[in-house]
Amino acid sequence: MTPALEGKNALVLGLGRSGKAAVRLLARERARVFGADEGRPDLAGLEGLAAPARVGEAGFATEGHDLVVLSPGVPRAHPDVARAVAQGTPVVGEVELASWFLDAPIVGITGTNGKSTTTALCGEMFRAAGRKVFVGGNLGTPLCDAVGGRWDALVVELSSFQLESVDRLRCRVGAFLNLTPDHLDRYAGAADYAAAKARLFERLEASGAAVLNGEDPWSERMAAVTKARRLDFALELPGAAGRPAEGGLELELEAGRPERYRLRNPALRGAHNLANALAAGLAARALDVPPDAVQRALDGFAGLPHRLERIRVRDGVEWINDSKATNVDSTAVALRAIPGPIWWIAGGRGKGAPYAPLRPLLDGRAKGLLLVGEDAERIGRELAGVGPVAPVGTLEAAVREAASRARSGETVLLSPACASYDQFQNYAERGDRFRQLVTEL
Ligand code: ADP
Repeated sequence: MTPALEGKNALVLGLGRSGKAAVRLLARERARVFGADEGRPDLAGLEGLAAPARVGEAGFATEGHDLVVLSPGVPRAHPDVARAVAQGTPVVGEVELASWFLDAPIVGITGTNGKSTTTALCGEMFRAAGRKVFVGGNLGTPLCDAVGGRWDALVVELSSFQLESVDRLRCRVGAFLNLTPDHLDRYAGAADYAAAKARLFERLEASGAAVLNGEDPWSERMAAVTKARRLDFALELPGAAGRPAEGGLELELEAGRPERYRLRNPALRGAHNLANALAAGLAARALDVPPDAVQRALDGFAGLPHRLERIRVRDGVEWINDSKATNVDSTAVALRAIPGPIWWIAGGRGKGAPYAPLRPLLDGRAKGLLLVGEDAERIGRELAGVGPVAPVGTLEAAVREAASRARSGETVLLSPACASYDQFQNYAERGDRFRQLVTEL
C-alpha cells in the first residue's frame, strides 16, 4: 500500500537531480515539501517547495518533519540524519520513495564497476523486445521520475549509497557485478560496503532471480540473504549459467537448454564487457525477454559515452575516449581490452594509488605516454621505461602530438587513471573536450 503523503511535512536533503525528482513527486502527492542542501545547488526546477530551500548552510534542521528523504550524496551517518532516525522520523532514500509508487517488475543492478553499462545494455534488451521499459536510477533519470509512467519493467542502476536507504523496495531480479574497495571514506570497511549492496538481495522477490558474479567472493554474501534462485555468470569458472562461448556467450537458465549468442560489437569489447553482457543477458532472460531481442541488443548497443568510446578511425588510427577511467583499476581494464600498439593519454588529479600495476599492460607496446595534469610527473616516474614519456601538460597538446605521430594500426587511448578536477569540471567535460578535439582533426 502506498503511504498517504497528503498534507505531510516532508524534508528532502540534497537538491541535486535525485533530490529534485523527489521534490516533484512529493509535491504531486500533495505533501508540504521542504528542501535543504549544505552546498549551493542549481535551484531551477524546485517549484514544488512549500518554503524556499535552505542552501549553503551547514547542518539540517530535521525536527518537525513527518518524513525525511535522502539524496544518495547525504550519508545516513550525517549527525542530523542520525538524530532524525533516533527520534523515530522515517528517513528514506529517493529510490525507496519512488518504489512506493511502482508496481512493474524491477531489475536492480549493483556492483562497484560496470553498473551503468550493464543497466543500459539490459534496458536495450527489453526495448528490443518491444517492452515499455524505464532505464535509470543512479544513471540518467532518477527513479522518482519513473513514477506515473506505464511501464512493463524498470531496469535500475543502484549504488550502495542508494541501497543504504531502501526498505520496501522489491526487485524481481537483482544483479551483483563485483565488489572492490571503493568509497571507503563512507564505509568502515569492505564488509560494510557489501552490507549496503546486500540490502538489494535481502529484498528480492522470492519468485525472481539473483544474478551473481560466480568469481567474486562477495557473491556468497548476496546469495546468503536471498530466497530467489541464483544465476551465476563467470568468465573462467566452469558450470555457470552465464559463460563465454566461441564467438560470444552462452546462457543456460534451464539446465540442459543452453542458448548461444554472438558478441562482436566493438562497444562491448573487453573481458569486463563480456561479464556485463552475461549479467545483462541473464537478467533479461529471467524476465522472459526473448532470445532474439537479447541478440539484437547485443549487436546494436551503442555503448555509453566516456567508456571505451570509439570516437573515430582516422587514417587507420583508432581514437578512444575512456575519460570515465578515473582510477588505476579502470585504466587497467581499458588497457586489457585494447590490443596492439598504443598512444596512451593519461594524468590529472591522482588518487594516490601506485601506477606501477599498469607496467605489464604497457610494456613493449606503448608508442608514447602523453601525460597531462597534476600527476604527469609521478606517472612518468613510476612507469619509466615502458615507452617514450612526453609530459605534454594539456589535453590539447596530447591530441596534437598523437595526431602527428600515430600510424595506421595504432590506437590513441585517453584513459587517464586520474580524476579530472585539476583541469576540468568532471570526467564528462574532459571526455567531451577530447571528443571535440579528435572530431576536429
Ligand atoms: P559504473 O556505473 O559502475 O561506474 P560503468 O559501466 O560506468 O560502471 O563503467 C565504469 C568503468 O568501470 C569502465 O570504464 C571500466 O573501466 C570499468 N568496468 C566496467 N565494467 C566492469 C566490470 N564488469 N568489471 C570491472 N570493471 C568494469
